[in-house]
Amino acid sequence: MKVIKSRIIENNLVSDRIYRLKVEFTGDIIPGQFFMIKTLDNSFLLPRPISVHDFNQNELTFLYRTEGTGTTKISTMRENDALQLFGPLGNGFDVNELKGRTAIIGGGIGAAPLLYLSKVLGRNADVYLGYKDDVYIDDLFRQYAGSTVVCTEDGCIGEKGFVTEFIDYKKYDAVVTCGPEIMMNKIIESCREHNIKCFVSLERRMACGMGVCLGCTVETKNGYKRACKDGPIFSADELR
Ligand code: FAD
Repeated sequence: MKVIKSRIIENNLVSDRIYRLKVEFTGDIIPGQFFMIKTLDNSFLLPRPISVHDFNQNELTFLYRTEGTGTTKISTMRENDALQLFGPLGNGFDVNELKGRTAIIGGGIGAAPLLYLSKVLGRNADVYLGYKDDVYIDDLFRQYAGSTVVCTEDGCIGEKGFVTEFIDYKKYDAVVTCGPEIMMNKIIESCREHNIKCFVSLERRMACGMGVCLGCTVETKNGYKRACKDGPIFSADELR
């Protein structure tokens, strides 16, 4: 974990409010880890957590949606500008737990942290992506996954309906998910019914990203844990 000043290779709009940010980085990354990101002009005080979307030798990619001050400011940065990165942070996915057939399920921008995992697991994992009406990262998943199912609520692209309707849980040894809590709760319930391991990537507002401020605590069966340091990946069995 280190604080680095990194050069932007690309920061492009890929869909409505969705940007792909590529920066220079050397080091090791576990899928599911994140960085705290800040601009150098102090236009916002606290760095913002963004998950690693993809990683290639010397390039780190993030996929983010503009929400407020921080992400909007980051979206104005251009090629060759510098950004401050703090990380990699968090536990990441334990890929040893995902050696069997795995379903990777992403909802909206929640699919962002799952691409690098899909790349690492390869054809052994099938990907299910649910969007409201705007599909933005299915092509990259198709390169790596065993199969990729895309659905939209109105059926404008791919299958019509919620992503949870298209998963045959009997085919899988494990499920990994990130997205809206309502979607993840449904998936956790189905995994319990089918007795399948389930891992979720949780998003909480966080200030420090390194387990000090306790702003991102999550209630688990083993007491309170910090989403930034003990997570953001949790086994669904552990969560209340
Ligand atoms: P602010 O001005 O701080 O807030 C704007 C609005 O968004 C407010 O209503 C605020 O209450 C709400 N908000 C801000 N952060 C959160 C949050 N974490 N949960 C719920 N509501 C929030 N986003 C991505 O687009 N791509 C990613 O890969 C990604 N990875 C993340 C990984 C982790 C571990 C965490 C904790 C969050 C991640 N996020 C990701 C969310 C991202 O960090 C927030 O959208 C961002 O911090 C918002 O900052 P802002 O300054 O733009 O908005």
